[in-house]
This record gives sequence, C-alpha cells and structure tokens, in this order.
Amino acid sequence: MRKQIAAANWKMNLDLKGAEKLMDEILEQYQEMPDGHQAIFAVPFPYLLMVQDKLSGRKGLYAAAQNCAATGNGAYTGEVSADMLKGMNIPYVIIGHSERREYYHEDNQVLTRKTDLALAAGVSPIFCCGEPLHIREAGTQNRYVEQQLTESLFHLSADQITGFIIAYEPIWAIGTGKTASSDQAQEMHRHIRSVFAAKYGDAVAGSISILYGGSVKAANAADIFGKPDVDGGLVGGASLVATEFVGIMNSLKK
Ligand code: PEP
Repeated sequence: MRKQIAAANWKMNLDLKGAEKLMDEILEQYQEMPDGHQAIFAVPFPYLLMVQDKLSGRKGLYAAAQNCAATGNGAYTGEVSADMLKGMNIPYVIIGHSERREYYHEDNQVLTRKTDLALAAGVSPIFCCGEPLHIREAGTQNRYVEQQLTESLFHLSADQITGFIIAYEPIWAIGTGKTASSDQAQEMHRHIRSVFAAKYGDAVAGSISILYGGSVKAANAADIFGKPDVDGGLVGGASLVATEFVGIMNSLKK
C-alpha cells in the first residue's frame, strides 16, 4: 500500500520562536503517525535542525527542505546542496514548486538536475507539477502536466520511481482560496498515475504517492483525500495553523 502523506510547506514564513511553537503544538496532538501515514514538514533552511531535533525518534514524522541547488557543492553563494541535506539526515526535499518555477525561472531541465542530485544524495524528492489558469481554461491541463513529468522524471529507472512522491498543485488553486473540486483532483491524479503506468507499469505507478496541493484546509481535506488516487496533500497556508494542520493529518485515508 502506498504511503498517505500530510506535507506542510511553511514557505518563507514564521520567526524561530513561532516555528518552535507551531511544531510543539502539532506534536502535542501527534506523538507519532499511524502505520502507512506520514507527516512531512518542509520548513525554511534555518529551521531544519530545530524541526529535525523535535521530530527525532517519532515514527512517521519527518523534516524536509523546500528546495536544493541544481549543482553539487562549490562556489555558489547562497545555495544549499542535496549533499548538505543528506549530511543533516534530512530525508525529503520539495522540487519544482510552482513558486520556484515562476519566480526563479526553474524549468523542467533545471528540475531534472535537482531531482538527479537529490536521488544521488539519498534525499527523496517531493516533485511538484501543475498547470496555470490559462491552461486549465483551455482544457489542456492533462498534456501540460504530462510534459512536466515526462521531461523531468522519465529518464529515471523503475526502482527510482517506486515509492516516489508527486504533488499535483494547480497553480490557480495555490494560496487563492480556490480549491480544485475533489472530482477535478481525482481526474488529474488518475491521469498522472496512468502516465506513470504507461511507462513503468501498474505496480510501480500504484506505489507512487500523489499529493494534492491548493488551498487544502481541515474543512475540505477529508473530501479530497477520500478520492482513490489522492494520497494526501501538500499544504501551504493552512500548515501554519496547528489546529488546521492537525485536522488535515486526521483526514488522511485510513
Ligand atoms: C503550496 O504552496 O504548496 C500550497 C498548496 O499552498 P496553499 O495550501 O496555501 O494553497
């Protein structure tokens, strides 16, 4: 059975005190995750060790980076490499978030390099894909997302794709309060799984956790996560409020 995952993306929010408080409030409710469930906290780089320390020894709870460099270590001021994350025992890294694609011009080729470096270091990517509004309005979202995935990931082996994590995040639903309906999410998630099945076979495709992202909250999570191809969520705004994120963790499919 593939993993069901509630992933928090704190983005560039919170001061250190606020980050510690948020983590403590969540951990008061969840000392560990049930079998088959994970909670992942993608936090700003300076907070990684603090979060890692608070999560240490807790089953199913993990820290993640929000990005990594597209190169190995070297003279790249301000960057953080996948090897550095591995050296800190950070198990996950978000790659290809739409804010990175849009504001930092990360294209499918750059994201291929980041993915390869993360995998080579032994840090598991949470690979984001998703279409902007004009693509959804034109009805070509399936082709658009398929291209993002094939260009960045289809050089990987079946072993590397087994158990992979994809986050489908329609850009028009991120931070806008507009959520894709659970049926729209299921339709795209089924399409994504079928794209992987065509290349890697049903067993590999069935092992991939496909998370939905875009204005997920405690109030809509159970409906969205209840769909057969939705394996949890990547959550921005609502992950900054402990009661909201705990509600989202509670909504993972049993
Ligand atoms: C995100 O940034 O990954 C995200 C889904 O944000 P929000 O939940 O705020 O829409």
